[in-house]
Amino acid sequence: MGWLYDLSRMLFPVTCEVCGDALVEGEKVVCMSCDMRMPRCDFHLRPSDELSMRFAAAKISKVAALFPYIRKNEFARLIQKAKYNNRPDIGRLLGEKFSRELLPGGFFSGIDMLMPVPMHFWKQARRGYNQAYEIARGVSNVTSIPIADNLVATRSHVTQTRKSAGDRLASDAAGKLKVCYPDELEGRHILLIDDVITTGATMFACADVLRQAVPSVSLSALALAATRFRS
Ligand SMILES: [Zn+2]
Repeated sequence: MGWLYDLSRMLFPVTCEVCGDALVEGEKVVCMSCDMRMPRCDFHLRPSDELSMRFAAAKISKVAALFPYIRKNEFARLIQKAKYNNRPDIGRLLGEKFSRELLPGGFFSGIDMLMPVPMHFWKQARRGYNQAYEIARGVSNVTSIPIADNLVATRSHVTQTRKSAGDRLASDAAGKLKVCYPDELEGRHILLIDDVITTGATMFACADVLRQAVPSVSLSALALAATRFRS
């Protein structure tokens, strides 16, 4: 039924989410030319990088992000669209793409489960999906590692304007998070998944809550993008 595929593509062209050009067969979300221009973080290959070191200090053994997040950069659009444009497929497909890039280097070896950073029930109901969960679905499609739902957000966001953005994120996240069925996580290596790593505070808050509930867990982290740290 190739002709049907070609016809539907002609009538409803699927376009690159970065440059807007029509995608050809085999291309998903980004076209080949944007994919080749997309800068890569490669943190997982550079353990002495600032982000890698900060995660290592938080006892998060491996960290990977696909591309650097720079506001107003053309690639930052991918994250904004995955989050706010009712496009859960963008997170899922980029999760698949990044996993295929990481797989040959053995990044996923030893990882038992994927754990998306949770979103509070009402926020998810408003948005319709949790983009971190969609990215995890993409990773799971490629690696066959199951997605765990043991980490939940129990309380909605409370504004704390007097704190810095990083502190606010960390304290909000820690206040909201709860581990369910901690016995299922005993001795497991969990890959925390989020859309963007900014200060790392959200991931660190998840790590703290998980370690308090299950001291025997090992943790790693994956995001689609990461900002440069300003210390
Ligand atoms: Zn493009």
